[in-house]
Amino acid sequence: MRKITYMMGLLVACGLFSQDKAALKFAKTITGEDLKGHLSILASDEYEGRETGKKGQKMAAEYIANHFETLGLEAPVEGSYFQKFNLSESAIGSVYFRKGEDRKIGFEDFVYYSSAETRGEEYVTIVKAKEDKESYDGNYVLFESEQLSGLQEKSQLASEAGAAGVIVILKDDAEFESFITRYGPYLKRPSLKSKARDNEATKLVIADMKLAEWIYGKPLDEVSAGETSQIIFNADYLDKPIATENVLGYLEGTELPDEVLVVTSHYDHVGIIDGEIHNGADDDGSGTVSVLEIAEAFVEAAKKKKGPKRSILFMTVTGEEKGLLGSKYYTDDNPIFPLENTVANLNIDMIGRVDDAHAKNPKYIYLIGSDKLSTELHELSEKVNKTYTNLELDYTYNDENDPNRFYYRSDHYNFAKNNVPIIFYFNGTHEDYHKPTDTVEKIAFEIMEKRAQLVFYTAWEIANRKERLKVDK
Ligand SMILES: [Zn+2]
Repeated sequence: MRKITYMMGLLVACGLFSQDKAALKFAKTITGEDLKGHLSILASDEYEGRETGKKGQKMAAEYIANHFETLGLEAPVEGSYFQKFNLSESAIGSVYFRKGEDRKIGFEDFVYYSSAETRGEEYVTIVKAKEDKESYDGNYVLFESEQLSGLQEKSQLASEAGAAGVIVILKDDAEFESFITRYGPYLKRPSLKSKARDNEATKLVIADMKLAEWIYGKPLDEVSAGETSQIIFNADYLDKPIATENVLGYLEGTELPDEVLVVTSHYDHVGIIDGEIHNGADDDGSGTVSVLEIAEAFVEAAKKKKGPKRSILFMTVTGEEKGLLGSKYYTDDNPIFPLENTVANLNIDMIGRVDDAHAKNPKYIYLIGSDKLSTELHELSEKVNKTYTNLELDYTYNDENDPNRFYYRSDHYNFAKNNVPIIFYFNGTHEDYHKPTDTVEKIAFEIMEKRAQLVFYTAWEIANRKERLKVDK
């Protein structure tokens, strides 16, 4: 009996690190209370949901930079904590067809679905689709269609045949009605992109039989294939640059300063929609305040001569909700520290809530991506958890076949695509996801503290281990 117990003890010990007293000591500085203090500010109504380019986002950037400065982190962007850059906002302007004084209006009578504009009114020739595509050149090809599916292919084929535009006429009025109701408002909304919009795209119009009849002046079944009609078309875009910024704080390593671990979260959220502030307490206020606290723990350690051997970059990024744009700017356009020297990225996006699947056992966290590029990283992460935090590490969303595809849906992906090993920490979705009800009162700070500590311990091991993590996949 004793022997068996002893053997078991030994077996368990093989899967563990011995606890590092310094790590334990500084992890304790990450508290639910401190996390709550920061989050109660960043996710308050005053910050207006932190939409990229808006006042609330700028306020959040200031708050984070002030915290980094107070801690004494280095400002790594030529002496600044802000990595500033421009995004391009495009809003659809006036879109219509015109015959004399008679107009058909975009998003009322038809939907315009293209990033290209006409640059003022343009005379266009509309040609009803036929097999022989010579007549398409420079014209707008009009197709009839039972349904929306296959629309991309049609438009692709037409543009390859030289068409300037494509008009898809949905035969079923109800199908068109449901399309315009569902997608119209979304397509009309201004969109933010990292690059200017593509003005060479095919101009795509989706409409119903009424519009076709109006264009030709007779029912569409009386129009023969190849028959043309001339009409005026106008589609304008209003473009403007939107200035935004990632916020970076840097702690130099004591022994291997050129090797950098990057800890990220996104501090932007979706702002005000239909007059309602979306506070984004969990998404991703929770990750952002965790980064603030983890940074503080490492700074405290450094003050006591327990600074990390490798350097750590604490980076809260902007533009995530608009398409991972802040992290993309960092990795694709301006990595302040070369990606070849970036040993790993730990990304925290939503760690403050408990999802339905874990209501009975909230001591869990979903891990995504830990085993994708580096076996060592995955093993390290597992061992750290067993040694220090003992959370249930749930890999449900790490499955390649998971339809949610979360691996591609937060900022770590921009590092992973550059072969930097990553771990994405995530609490799963819940009923308040991207709703005005994602608020501070609903955050489970006790469990969030444990999760933030797990990230801290994992960072501690990565930054202090002897060998750099190997990329083997
Ligand atoms: Zn998020």
